[in-house]
Amino acid sequence: MIPYKHEPFTDFAVAENQQAMKQGLETVNNYLGQDYPLIIGGERIMTEEKVRSYNPAKKDETIGYVAKATQEHAEKAMAVAKETFETWRKVSPKVRADVLFRAAAIIRRRKWEFSALLIKEAGKPWNEADADTAEAIDFLEFYGREMLRLKDGVKVESRPGEFNRYDYLPLGVGVVISPWNFPFAIMAGTTVAPLVTGNTVLLKPSSNTLVVAYKFMEVLEEAGMPKGVVNFIPGSSKDIGDFIVDHVDTRFISFTGSRDVGVHIYERAAKVHEGQLNLKRVIAEMGGKDTIVVDSEADLELAAESIVKSAFGFSGQKCSACSRVIIVEDVYDEVVAKVKEKAEKLTVGNPETNEHFMGPVIDEASLNKIKEYIEIGKGEGKLLVGGTTDEEEGYFAHPTVFVDLKHDDRIMQEEIFGPVVGIAKAKDFTEAIKFANDTDYGLTGAVITNNREHLEEARRDFMVGNLYFNRGCTGAIVGYQPFGGFKMSGTDSKAGGPDYLVLHMQGRTSSEML
Ligand code: GLU
Repeated sequence: MIPYKHEPFTDFAVAENQQAMKQGLETVNNYLGQDYPLIIGGERIMTEEKVRSYNPAKKDETIGYVAKATQEHAEKAMAVAKETFETWRKVSPKVRADVLFRAAAIIRRRKWEFSALLIKEAGKPWNEADADTAEAIDFLEFYGREMLRLKDGVKVESRPGEFNRYDYLPLGVGVVISPWNFPFAIMAGTTVAPLVTGNTVLLKPSSNTLVVAYKFMEVLEEAGMPKGVVNFIPGSSKDIGDFIVDHVDTRFISFTGSRDVGVHIYERAAKVHEGQLNLKRVIAEMGGKDTIVVDSEADLELAAESIVKSAFGFSGQKCSACSRVIIVEDVYDEVVAKVKEKAEKLTVGNPETNEHFMGPVIDEASLNKIKEYIEIGKGEGKLLVGGTTDEEEGYFAHPTVFVDLKHDDRIMQEEIFGPVVGIAKAKDFTEAIKFANDTDYGLTGAVITNNREHLEEARRDFMVGNLYFNRGCTGAIVGYQPFGGFKMSGTDSKAGGPDYLVLHMQGRTSSEML
């Protein structure tokens, strides 16, 4: 087996690659507007009511119409998943991993098409779409290998005359609720981690990005995933979300999305219903309010570059995005000036032609929330850059920077999930770390400094799950920088890390007298 290595990113300066992406877009253009059914036990089920998936950069372009599951569908999917679990759990972990490796190979062959679909369905710029597809491949390759590592359990001691083993068994039926911001990578990663460990799944992807999830279902089928192992049931939280979380046969829930929904799921999952045989496990990846700290002894050019890239990449719609900056006062003015200069150069527009750094935000509700926070920011600090939106053709927000904030202002505390960053001052490095920690979240953070003692101080005291030094705070790579946060950012389940698969299994001790 070739050792795991992450999928390389595409260099779009190369004409050949540009051409390939244009062809990918052509492929997607040719299937726009089709209908997509639910998939339960391999059976295609079309529903009367459908969800329209559209291009957020061009509201009137329909990507597809996707069936919407009712509680009856969800109940049926649960029954199928429960039954299929009895066969799937007995399939050798090697065979389960093989399905993932084959799926990775299929996606690699259709890489341009998948990235093009992400450009259109999620409004991703080319490089962001390419990274999302690469990460989906990485999750398949990495978790496949992780299962091979864990398939014989972990060694425990035995005394003379006995043989002890410690094995990992799957849990049962899992509910996977995935987000729109990494509609391929996180959807695929959170689906295949339970599958490769021997569980069966009900997949409910975000309603904004259903077509890419459907296409992934087709890939899994082509790769040899048996019917009923994963069941595709898009639907609203109101109609089926709570229902599948509450279900007595749900063994675990893997959720990625907002803090509010994550907390809601966590609370509901804690309630034991009549007939329930297990306490439900929750794996939750929620929000972030991620800080870049700039020290006085630092490369200020690097600081500004890191801030701008981390704050505005994919319009700030990453839970890892930099949305707060704390700068030590000696270098505050200089860093602010550099951020202004760089942010003002960024252009916003339809990502399809690859001319702009930023594309749209995901939908109207998201744009409205950003607009509200722009008003809040004007009241709390000084608007340095941006503050404008444009919704004629799509949902566009311009890169926005507020300065002279207090670290506990709302702009510095509440997750906006858009291209808005707030900047505040600290008197020294220790105070900067204190301010950085003063949020409910603890997902990512970065420190820009050349002072070794300060790096160590941050390593000890900066309470985030992903801490970066002298770089931006987004872009964790599967298998290299396991990703997940502390505090209200989630359950610190590190996606793409060595502990992740174990969260989907239960340890079984067996002890035999020889
Ligand atoms: N893993 C991504 C990163 O490191 C962020 C994932 C997310 O936004 O949910 O940037």
